Amino acid sequence: MKKHYDLLVIGGGPAGAVAARTAAKKGLSVCLVEKRPAIGVPVRCAEGIGQEALAEFIEPDERWISAEMTGAAIVAPDGTVMKLESGFAGNKVGYILDRKIFDRELVWQAAEAGSDVSVKTRAAAPIMEDGVVKGARLEYCGTVSDVTADVVVAADGVESKFARWCGIDTTVPVSEIMSSAQYVLTGIDIDPHATVFYLGNEIAPEGYLWVFPKGERSANVGVGISGKKSGSGHRAKDYLDKFVHRTFPKGKPIEFIVGGVSVCRPLGCTVADGLIIAGDAARVVDPLTGGGIYNAMFTGRLAADVAADCIAKGNCQKKALSAYDAGWRSSKIGKSIERNYHIKEYLIKLSDEKLNAIIRSASKLNLTEFSTFTLIKELMKVNPKLVLELGALAVSLR
Ligand SMILES: Cc1cc2nc3c(=O)[nH]c(=O)nc-3n(C[C@H](O)[C@H](O)[C@H](O)COP(=O)(O)OP(=O)(O)OC[C@H]3O[C@@H](n4cnc5c(N)ncnc54)[C@H](O)[C@@H]3O)c2cc1C
Repeated sequence: MKKHYDLLVIGGGPAGAVAARTAAKKGLSVCLVEKRPAIGVPVRCAEGIGQEALAEFIEPDERWISAEMTGAAIVAPDGTVMKLESGFAGNKVGYILDRKIFDRELVWQAAEAGSDVSVKTRAAAPIMEDGVVKGARLEYCGTVSDVTADVVVAADGVESKFARWCGIDTTVPVSEIMSSAQYVLTGIDIDPHATVFYLGNEIAPEGYLWVFPKGERSANVGVGISGKKSGSGHRAKDYLDKFVHRTFPKGKPIEFIVGGVSVCRPLGCTVADGLIIAGDAARVVDPLTGGGIYNAMFTGRLAADVAADCIAKGNCQKKALSAYDAGWRSSKIGKSIERNYHIKEYLIKLSDEKLNAIIRSASKLNLTEFSTFTLIKELMKVNPKLVLELGALAVSLR
């Protein structure tokens, strides 16, 4: 590892890996540090991503794709099922990744492009000069070293501390943290090519439960509930166990994870002098679905693009790096985060009866495309009252 780089990337998840890969391909000197001893583990993810979204960043490869999805279903609290078959979905299919391999592949690609990579290396503090981020103090197997950089990318995930250490308020209210628990279950009867989402206050208060197939008889089966609904005897794991006991009594867990997902609005500002914040650390997860892999890669790539421009011009102050902040906010992800935040806020207030009614009407729809946007638009057509309830959002969706 050198003492100075153009770009220092903290975190070896999808945001950090794509930032490092993009910057290295542009000829920047780059170092990516990851605190865990191995990239990609433990997996804290249900691993779902859309086919088109993935292909924007990496050629799909069966080595890290566990299953291909051709359909989806949403199950209402009363058991009504809204199905989306491949016939309607056309080409809009998704994948369930194997992130243990996928995350490694992204970091391999960054390394292949010329980035230095150091695992078991924790950024322990920023190096600051007159309020400007100049690098990070790194801890590696008991040794401490200072590495400086023209720009630091904080891609340290949902538990991000780096931006806070640099003076940025990264607090997420407990009500906007989805508390999640997930098993990889095997020996279960499922449709191996369809994701299933279960809604309802008994199943997942202010959240949802998912079954994401990982093969013929295996799936990621998990639940996310609002942090404020979590408590003794009714934590995410309690809801999950209840569901698994009822639905997959013969299923055998081969992995169990817990994790948090922020479903808040993104940080108010995602840059500072010498610093760019990307991925979950910037709170750019989709607040409705909890999906963040694509948004992490998107912001990672943009972070590297903007950093490269600024470094070339010799100006890495906040104002110059603001092109990053403005860039993702005005992009498709910025717009969909804002829209989906409103939809999430509306949906979490619905009673089970209302959810049943909406899904019943949705189950009669003939959707040609499966996206939140299409679904809500079509629902408004069959539920005129929904237009009133969604207010300004409904107008923007029309
Ligand atoms: C239960 C669950 C299910 C999910 N399901 C989906 C899904 O189906 N689809 C989807 O798109 N998204 C899903 N997500 C969200 C998705 O996992 C994240 O949005 C995505 O991983 C974000 O990527 P990232 O690179 O920003 O952060 P991460 O993948 O979290 O990577 C951050 C990395 O930074 C490292 N790090 C942290 N601090 C330091 C430090 N000080 N020094 C060095 N390294 C550090 C961490 O060890 C970590 O490896 C899910 C999340 C959870 C919890």
